[in-house]
Amino acid sequence: MEDIKKLARELLADNKVQLVLGFENGTANRVRPAFFTTPEAVDKLIYNEFCIQNIALYLKKDICQHAASLAITANPNVVRSILQLAAENQIKEEKIKIIGITHEGKCVGLLDFKAAEEFSKTQPKGLKDEDKALIEKIQAMSLEEKFDYWVEAFSPCIKCYACRASCPMCYCGKCNVESNNPQWIPVAPHKYGNMEWHMMRAMHLAGRCINCGECNRSCPVDIPLNILSYMLSDFVLEEFESEAGLSAVFTPALSSYTMVDKENFIK
Ligand code: SF4
Ligand code: SF4
Repeated sequence: MEDIKKLARELLADNKVQLVLGFENGTANRVRPAFFTTPEAVDKLIYNEFCIQNIALYLKKDICQHAASLAITANPNVVRSILQLAAENQIKEEKIKIIGITHEGKCVGLLDFKAAEEFSKTQPKGLKDEDKALIEKIQAMSLEEKFDYWVEAFSPCIKCYACRASCPMCYCGKCNVESNNPQWIPVAPHKYGNMEWHMMRAMHLAGRCINCGECNRSCPVDIPLNILSYMLSDFVLEEFESEAGLSAVFTPALSSYTMVDKENFIK
């Protein structure tokens, strides 16, 4: 913890960054994301086992977009998000310093995206045992069973869009669900309209999701959205040898085409 604070203070004191994005204590024993703009303010910076929110999300918000330079405390999920956002031309390397934090909580200064890429390759993805068990269960189903499973899984969705709001890769200024002329996705939550919303979201994230699990964690009705994204990522890796969050120079599989692409999935 002291290593993280020391690095953050130095970056601000040496005017290498204008702000540091990290966590502080909130109310009711909770932690919350916070922005620190002076070395003294860094006294309030914390990092502990509760700091699990993927704060890379804030890199697309005005406060970060308008800062000339910034640093961010970044666990493996955040580092993967940064690399993917860079690969999609959403953030620039010269503007950001990464205070890396390993999955064991060790602080590692990542001087550039090359170092972030090396870091990302060595850090495990945090799939929980129950996630792995659910993936195995779904993979064993027939196509029809899978379809029925997801229709049922999405049926409690109330379309609050917390999953979209918490996802660092859902950064479009205007989302398709807000379009009412034509209205692609029905506003009211009901079985088949929900399916359209989630299929659209899953396809937009296919091969871009960095598997942080925030969508599932923020869902008030506990829909396993991260499992769907994970399974799609796995499919994209198998078919296109392409994996998000490992490199800042990367074209998502669904945004590119090569003459040697396998087409065996087109039926
Ligand atoms: S796991 Fe969910 S929140 Fe995280 S990048 Fe993937 S879709 Fe977005
Ligand atoms: S967070 Fe859950 S309930 Fe809200 S839109 Fe997403 S899936 Fe639906």
